[in-house]
Amino acid sequence: MSGTINLKGKNYSIDGLTKDAVGIAKMLAEKARLHDEEINDSDLDAEEDKEIQTQIHAQLILPDFIIRAEYMAFTANSLHLLGAKLRGTSLQDQPKLFATYVQIFTILPEPKLNPFLRRYLQDKELVQGLGNQIGRAFIDGIQWRKPSGPGHICTLLMNMLMWCDPSLGDDGKACIDAVVRRGLFKKTKGLQETKGFENIDEFQRVEIARCNGMLNAIEELPDNLYVTSTRQHLLGQLDGCGNLECGEEATLNCSRCKGTRYCGRECQKKAWKEHKLFCFAPSF
Ligand SMILES: [Zn+2]
Ligand SMILES: [Zn+2]
Repeated sequence: MSGTINLKGKNYSIDGLTKDAVGIAKMLAEKARLHDEEINDSDLDAEEDKEIQTQIHAQLILPDFIIRAEYMAFTANSLHLLGAKLRGTSLQDQPKLFATYVQIFTILPEPKLNPFLRRYLQDKELVQGLGNQIGRAFIDGIQWRKPSGPGHICTLLMNMLMWCDPSLGDDGKACIDAVVRRGLFKKTKGLQETKGFENIDEFQRVEIARCNGMLNAIEELPDNLYVTSTRQHLLGQLDGCGNLECGEEATLNCSRCKGTRYCGRECQKKAWKEHKLFCFAPSF
């Protein structure tokens, strides 16, 4: 039957799942105060904090593609609000809210799979200052909220370094200022030398080491060469048709999400059933 997905023997309507994903994403945005118009400089109280964490953790037991659809909907509809709110949040006075905002950033699907996150990171105005702010917080000490941790924050910082315009940083080498990059280099090195480092999970160990290596490579290469050449390479990986069985070069943009590309109508049609679940018109 078209328009449905079979899950453990039961058929679910794709339209229904998409609607649910949008609804759940909106709930998270509301709980995290992203739709509040007035400035609120209080930290999350215990009740608010618990509600957000309960929702984030309840989602983790769902099938992967549903979690992905929810966070894709969140990225498309609310990421610009999350960035704006984080910018106005104080690490010292609102440590729980600050850590929650960074936590949400780190659980979004990676840029390779998430055209909305790529679009956001490449928008100089929207992303301005966030690399420095998150970098400084990571150096100074931020609460690590599961399922996110230091390795996940390193992934986020690397995504920013690779995708955000290097002219945002004070020396033009990368979007994060030189002094913050040096602090991050020391921090990621220090974490690797900390007793008990081998006890954290492998993903996080790899990401902390990778981030340290990337910071080193940025310094070693002249100007913004590391960032621009890495970006070129990443963009090259995205050149292919969105119908993964095809392999042709993509020339046509999905008109709704403007993120997924195809070689032509035929492939777009073939991929639609799968793509529909992740296709949202971005709000920014
Ligand atoms: Zn194709
Ligand atoms: Zn689309």
